[in-house]
Amino acid sequence: MDLRVEGNHSRADELRTLLRRVSDSTGIEPVQLAVFLESVDYACDASVGDHFRKPAGLVNCAGTAHEGVPPSVRPLMADPTCRYLIWLSKPLLDEDTEQILWVFAHEYRHFMHRSGIVDANEIACSLMAIHQNEGTATQYSNLDRPEELDCELFAHETLTRILGAEAVHSFIERRCADPQGAAYYQRLRYLAREVKASNPGVQATPASGRA
Ligand SMILES: [Zn+2]
Repeated sequence: MDLRVEGNHSRADELRTLLRRVSDSTGIEPVQLAVFLESVDYACDASVGDHFRKPAGLVNCAGTAHEGVPPSVRPLMADPTCRYLIWLSKPLLDEDTEQILWVFAHEYRHFMHRSGIVDANEIACSLMAIHQNEGTATQYSNLDRPEELDCELFAHETLTRILGAEAVHSFIERRCADPQGAAYYQRLRYLAREVKASNPGVQATPASGRA
């Protein structure tokens, strides 16, 4: 079953194939899932809900389009065959293809969590042990939440499979050009290594590049 991709962004046609490669590579049937590629920037629009002001997100569709939903996605939200929607914002879609695919793979993993295909229990156990070893002085980030870390490791693994290790390595290097990005990927690499050390069964590891 092909991933359902709709949208009015100018790159919708071109990206559809790539997004389907991400979906296909998981071996998971994207049942009741739709993806929407938005052409309007809602980042600063208070008339829409939080979900639609972020770069991307996984939204539960209850079969009705409630308030705060951009007009472009209302038909999808109201479609009873669409239970989950991955929303990709215009600001995200204006970025590099690698960044779009990374964020999409991340949200796709959230879909796998939400629909009960996988869980983040093993990563949660590993994280608990890592945090105990680190002590209380460590500043935790979004990456220190089990589902978020699992999604990031999955995104890394999926992009490596689709684009190759070298392309992913150079993408991460570019993201590390600013201090915030560098700190983020440093933490991701550290956690990936520690998770793998405590649980060799976990496959995803951004091993390349600086630690
Ligand atoms: Zn997330």
